[in-house]
Amino acid sequence: MKSPEQWLVRHITRTVRRSLVGPEQRWVFEQPPQGWTPPPVNRTSLYLHVPFCRHFCPYCPYTKVPYREALLEPYTRAAIAEVDWWADRIGPAEITSIYIGGGTPTLALDSVARVLMHVRKRFHLTGDICIETNPADVNDETVKRLHDLDVALVSLGVQSFQARNLAVIGRTYQPDIAERALALLAESGFSSVNVDLMFALPHQTAEDVSADLCRAVQLGADQITTYPLFTFPYTSVGEYLRLKAVRMPNLHMRKAHYRMINQWCTEHGFERVSVWGFKRGGIPRYSSVTRDGYIGIGPGSGSHLPDGFVLNTFDLNSWIDAMDNGRMAIALRIPFADKMPGWWWLYWRFYDTRIPLGAIDGILGHDTPKVRRWLRVVEKIGLAVRNDEYLELTEPGAFWLHLAQNYFALNYVNTLWTQARREPWPKEVFI
Ligand code: SF4
Repeated sequence: MKSPEQWLVRHITRTVRRSLVGPEQRWVFEQPPQGWTPPPVNRTSLYLHVPFCRHFCPYCPYTKVPYREALLEPYTRAAIAEVDWWADRIGPAEITSIYIGGGTPTLALDSVARVLMHVRKRFHLTGDICIETNPADVNDETVKRLHDLDVALVSLGVQSFQARNLAVIGRTYQPDIAERALALLAESGFSSVNVDLMFALPHQTAEDVSADLCRAVQLGADQITTYPLFTFPYTSVGEYLRLKAVRMPNLHMRKAHYRMINQWCTEHGFERVSVWGFKRGGIPRYSSVTRDGYIGIGPGSGSHLPDGFVLNTFDLNSWIDAMDNGRMAIALRIPFADKMPGWWWLYWRFYDTRIPLGAIDGILGHDTPKVRRWLRVVEKIGLAVRNDEYLELTEPGAFWLHLAQNYFALNYVNTLWTQARREPWPKEVFI
């Protein structure tokens, strides 16, 4: 049952999206129709999902299964078959970046190597390879193998350098493991090393957050991605939420932490590159989600295509079975109405916190006057400022967007993922 707050948020977001994107866009994911095939694509990015974890962090919403060596071969075989599936349909596209996430990709680097070799065979890879790493797996051997794979950008999921905060989120490694891992990655010649840090954890103070930022920078992080505790109902934290006293951090605390992070990063020469991320100037940006189009390989992975968004089955065995038998692994699809690609683009430029004003006319078409009116309001109330050809979100603007995304995640992603995790091939999901 929905709380009054959830009902209100859902009602507001439905009204807003209808007035912006228009009534033609249906907000429902359905099984792709018989005979559906993805349209040809010239350039795209590629996401590879590696769904294995040794230990499940209680707050984590991502698609994952307990690591077992016996699963690696069927996983690799299916991933290679899925690369073929896409190449046969969209054509030998240029791949402008590869993002490898999970799960824990560093648990399956042999599999990753074989899949990447196949991607190179079937597509034309021109962009960088980025990968997520786990502090417990980073050592000299891992670094060597990442270089062998031509990985350029790495991200380390530290979350906190303090034992007390690691315990709150159920991480089993000690801070010195994360510190050693970061120092090693930072001195190993990657183009950029990103560190994920969490804020607004239960009982975490602003001093804790600032100490984590300092430690990350001392150890050589090029980019810092900060995010608060999300509590999706289907994670153990969600269950825990109902049973015990852990609460989503309150607004005041999130705001105070966010302001402090923003100020700290600016004072230490980091520029904001997204709602959550700050990087040193001149270093390439590490990013998982802001690409304009991508195809997803692996259970639960999504693909952003010119005509819509599709989502693979979340169930590992169903995904392997589909691939082994030459069937499509896509479980759900939302087709885009004409105006949707433009609004999707704008949403992610807001996420970047910089909107290139000159590009709006070409991308938003007839909706340009509406968008420009809307941006003027955003500017007038102090959520953004004009900077040459860009409209840049201010710190309050970025915070409120962060909050809106939080609600977006809880109300849309949560609805979709809850259903997709409940059954391998859901019929339809209304968001
Ligand atoms: S946070 Fe990372 S390591 Fe933890 S369960 Fe999720 S995917 Fe696995």
